[in-house]
Amino acid sequence: MQPFEYSRVHDEAAAIKGLTANNRAKVIAGGTNLLDLMKEHVETPSRLLDINDLAMSAIERTSDGVRIGALARMSDTAAHRSIKEQFPALSEALLLSASPQLRNMASIGGNLMQRTRCAYFRDITLGACNKRNPGSGCSAIAGENRMHAVLGTSPACIATHPSDFAVALAALDGIVQVHGPKGSRDIPAVDFHLLPGETPQREHALAHDEIIVAVRVPSAPHAERSYYLKVRDRASYEFALTSAAVGLGLDGSTIRSARVALGGVGTKPWRSREAEAILTGKSISDALFREAAEAALQSAKPQRQNGFKVELAKRTIVRALQTVAGGAA
Ligand code: SF4
Repeated sequence: MQPFEYSRVHDEAAAIKGLTANNRAKVIAGGTNLLDLMKEHVETPSRLLDINDLAMSAIERTSDGVRIGALARMSDTAAHRSIKEQFPALSEALLLSASPQLRNMASIGGNLMQRTRCAYFRDITLGACNKRNPGSGCSAIAGENRMHAVLGTSPACIATHPSDFAVALAALDGIVQVHGPKGSRDIPAVDFHLLPGETPQREHALAHDEIIVAVRVPSAPHAERSYYLKVRDRASYEFALTSAAVGLGLDGSTIRSARVALGGVGTKPWRSREAEAILTGKSISDALFREAAEAALQSAKPQRQNGFKVELAKRTIVRALQTVAGGAA
């Protein structure tokens, strides 16, 4: 780990000022991702601004949904009654992430900011990586790519986004609220993470001098009837091969509103408007669910080792929709 300065900030203004003054400063909350990357020399901030004293941990019902403070811990968010009852996919995605110890430390804001698990990114001795060292090349394209993305890839990067929570947040129309020197702005969760394109080092819409203060999620029938299904190589403490966050607003067996987002297969949390369009207004059936799943993966571009993800993702969507449709079928 390279030497760095550390300070604890006690208000938002100090955090933003510290970021503005130093383009190699970073904020730290739970530290469950950042410290790992610093030990591996992947992240080399010159200053850490500890924001754990800021009053940003509350989880509150609002007139139109819920507001989750950026410093709320994953475990507290997953266990919160309103989240479990009104937004079950959010709670399930969190509980299927990491381990209990990590969930007790990791914050909601940090969860959105976590970086890819691509081995070439995380191990500086393995090979070239455009995300870590722009312009150096992508070792995964000709290398080990079983875990990599099939949607949203570019010739520069094929890494998946690792967050489960971000997938559920994208499905349920979440908003990421950020503060910076120019004030407050809201970023739709679907736009918060960026496609790699030619600049895979740019992963999100947050400016260097901005901090996430909260996420908001609107109430809706499809949020209340939502579900997160994660498929992985082992039953716990593992990242997704494929995952699906789905929600259905039903009137009898007719789908009034549908939400579908995928994890484990995209370079960002992957909302499928195509699948949602096929589902909306139709009567629930296995054939309809399969049609939606086909649409969601229509643009998939598998790599040498991960072709299996295309069919697996389709089945994940179908199973998730069957589950959430439940007794309405
Ligand atoms: Fe780096 Fe992306 Fe290639 Fe992985 S897939 S080696 S993160 S450029």
